[in-house]
Amino acid sequence: MSSVLPLVFNPDPRLRALSAEIPEKDIPGLLDLAESMVKTMIADEGVGLAAPQIGQNIRLIIVLTKDGPEIMFNPKITKTSLRSVWGEEGCLSIPKTFGQVKRKKNVRCEYIDIKGQKRVVDAADMVARIIQHEVDHLDGILFIDKAKDIHTEE
Ligand code: ZN
Repeated sequence: MSSVLPLVFNPDPRLRALSAEIPEKDIPGLLDLAESMVKTMIADEGVGLAAPQIGQNIRLIIVLTKDGPEIMFNPKITKTSLRSVWGEEGCLSIPKTFGQVKRKKNVRCEYIDIKGQKRVVDAADMVARIIQHEVDHLDGILFIDKAKDIHTEE
């Protein structure tokens, strides 16, 4: 059964590790974990969550879209717009910290969904930003590495 999971916080080394590609045969065994990540993201009022944030170095992310939370296995950004935009970001693993990060305005992302189907999504603006932030987590990159005007808020 899925449940809310404890988060991993910066500077935990698991946030800096390179996460492994998930063999397709392993996906059915990870559905419960993925559902737990959705619950965790909602409980902590996040808009995205990557597996390293719950201590698992595997390529699995949750992205909040306008249709609800989307579970993405092995997400890969395969195309980006030339245009980039600045926007404010935070991270559940770096509480109360915010900063301006430059991201591609549009991205194409390929991934495997919970049914094991290959999917391609063309995302823009906020959803594109979330995808880039979460895929960075899988490569051990945090938004504070890229941000300017970093500040803390209660
Ligand atoms: Zn984050």
